[in-house]
Amino acid sequence: MPPMVLLGPPGAGKGTQGQMLAEELGIPQIATGDILRAAVKAGSELGQKAKSYMDAGDLVPDEIMVGIIRDRLQQPDAGEGYILDGFPRTVAQAEALDDMLAAIGQKLDHVVHIDVDNELLVKRLSGRVICRDCGATYHTRFNPPAKDRVCDLCGGELFQREDDQEKTVRSRLAVFQERTQPLVEYYRQQGIYRKVDGDQDPETVRARILQAIEGK
Ligand code: ADP
Ligand code: ADP
Ligand code: ZN
Repeated sequence: MPPMVLLGPPGAGKGTQGQMLAEELGIPQIATGDILRAAVKAGSELGQKAKSYMDAGDLVPDEIMVGIIRDRLQQPDAGEGYILDGFPRTVAQAEALDDMLAAIGQKLDHVVHIDVDNELLVKRLSGRVICRDCGATYHTRFNPPAKDRVCDLCGGELFQREDDQEKTVRSRLAVFQERTQPLVEYYRQQGIYRKVDGDQDPETVRARILQAIEGK
């Protein structure tokens, strides 16, 4: 099972789908946003560097991100395929990833773009809450926890991400258009690009993704 990428704007469902697919396929989900948030929480040097970019809804610089992925892909669990969620987000990151994979005789298998229109993205992001302890994702209306503000999985406290406030959301959507959208053409040229409609319920989207990667 070679590596695959989940591409999509903030709120498209990359995290939700990545988690389900990782379980189903038995491979890890590598989410750069989760790695960065853990670094911020730990107060590490990486976290200190990344925080201001994240809070502003800007991208963390490419060199930092490529370094994170280089380290993460060397972990033993990344040997048998993995799902990248939130990386790459720029053409420079995509090129660096291709080089890294080529150096070990691998290449990406699929790039699945989860497509959702902006108004729905804003609704999803404004209701998103995540667990402070395990990072699990919920939505106050679309996917509420059994008990208000408490994680079903670990009992941790649920909170809204700083960058999910409406003013930051709008700029993150603009950043996606400007910096990440060019990856569509980049991967289309490689023949591995698949677009999936992400506006339905999670189960339907999951089925569409599986169909897109099986029906290649
Ligand atoms: P979302 O799930 O809303 O798409 P993420 O959790 O993936 O957001 O990312 C949160 C923030 O972390 C981004 O807004 C950005 O600041 C930073 N980040 C995550 N991945 C990358 C990346 N590949 N390149 C640059 N910045 C990144
Ligand atoms: P991303 O990682 O792309 O930013 P998430 O997986 O975090 O997206 O999803 C954003 C928000 O929308 C979360 O609150 C999540 O619970 C909710 N969500 C995800 N997929 C769906 C869906 N298919 N229908 C409705 N809500 C969804
Ligand atoms: Zn939890």
